[in-house]
Amino acid sequence: PYEVLIVGGGPAGAAAAVYAARKGIRVGVAAERFGGQTNDTMAIENYISVLETDGPKFSAALEAQVRHYGVDIMNLQRADKLTPAGADGLVHIQMENGATLKAKTVILSTGARWRNVNVPGEAEYKNKGVAYCPHCDGPLFKGKRTAVIGGGNSGIEAAIDLAGIVEHVTVIEFAEQLKADAVLVNKLNSLPNVTVHTNAQTTEITGDGSKVNGIRYRDRATGTEHHVELAGVFVQIGLVPNTEFLKGTVELSKFGEIVVDAKGHTNLPGVFAAGDCTTVPYKQIVIAAGEGAKAALSAFDHLIRS
Ligand code: FAD
Repeated sequence: PYEVLIVGGGPAGAAAAVYAARKGIRVGVAAERFGGQTNDTMAIENYISVLETDGPKFSAALEAQVRHYGVDIMNLQRADKLTPAGADGLVHIQMENGATLKAKTVILSTGARWRNVNVPGEAEYKNKGVAYCPHCDGPLFKGKRTAVIGGGNSGIEAAIDLAGIVEHVTVIEFAEQLKADAVLVNKLNSLPNVTVHTNAQTTEITGDGSKVNGIRYRDRATGTEHHVELAGVFVQIGLVPNTEFLKGTVELSKFGEIVVDAKGHTNLPGVFAAGDCTTVPYKQIVIAAGEGAKAALSAFDHLIRS
């Protein structure tokens, strides 16, 4: 069995692997896609000490560092069940391919995915004007016109954040009213360069073949179609943690996030979690990496005490 088995190979899993391996113990990482969300990132400009890199480069660097420490990397392997430690004291992770991996401690770092709006143009222009992370990609639209799809807290926070950087922000909300907290809505309404359309259904993200040039929405009250010219669209209709396979075993929040304490413990002994799949706020690479390191140190602490 592994002393530390990490499920998920994004920044959180990679940091956990490096920290655990440096303790001289047997470490494995099983990942559906090593590198995780960073593979889909165009430019990374906020990872401390790295002025600028791109997603594939960053992901390759994560993997090289993990390999350097002799960690067993099981890439393209999806976990689909966790069984808490029984009489043998080992946590069992059942893989989709039928294999079962056993470990004294497990770190869950399966990340999250942005919910898509699923309209024509979204997939085609992803990273070509369609973006999901205002902290990451907001500055790419400096001085340009953008839209935010989604009027919940994350959408309105994104709109306020973007309004300080871009020329103009159009907010498009499907429901009759913005769902964000009143304090955010008031702040939004005080900004001069924001237009809000409620009761509006996004029907298409338009482009010129190489990048986004606008958004089309239908006014749900009148049925009329409108087109707004702009350079970027931020989709903010929710982040979905990759934790479906843990339902019923590991405690999850109402949003499906793994509930962790300040040291990365879950409700199960020997099971830790880190990164975007957890209740830790602000889903960012530097945060996921820090949480992964923390979970590995907590797993090691658990090993030396049991
Ligand atoms: P992830 O990166 O999501 O990795 C999860 C890992 O778990 C992957 O290896 C995945 O394949 C694996 N996995 C999932 N389910 C299973 C399963 N059942 N079994 C096995 N493996 C599984 N953040 C920044 O700080 N700066 C940026 O510029 C930036 N830009 C972004 C741009 C885009 C387009 C996106 C989508 C995100 C961006 N982010 C950025 C956010 C950042 O990528 C995430 O916060 C970070 O990758 C989270 O790391 P993680 O390790 O928790 O999860």
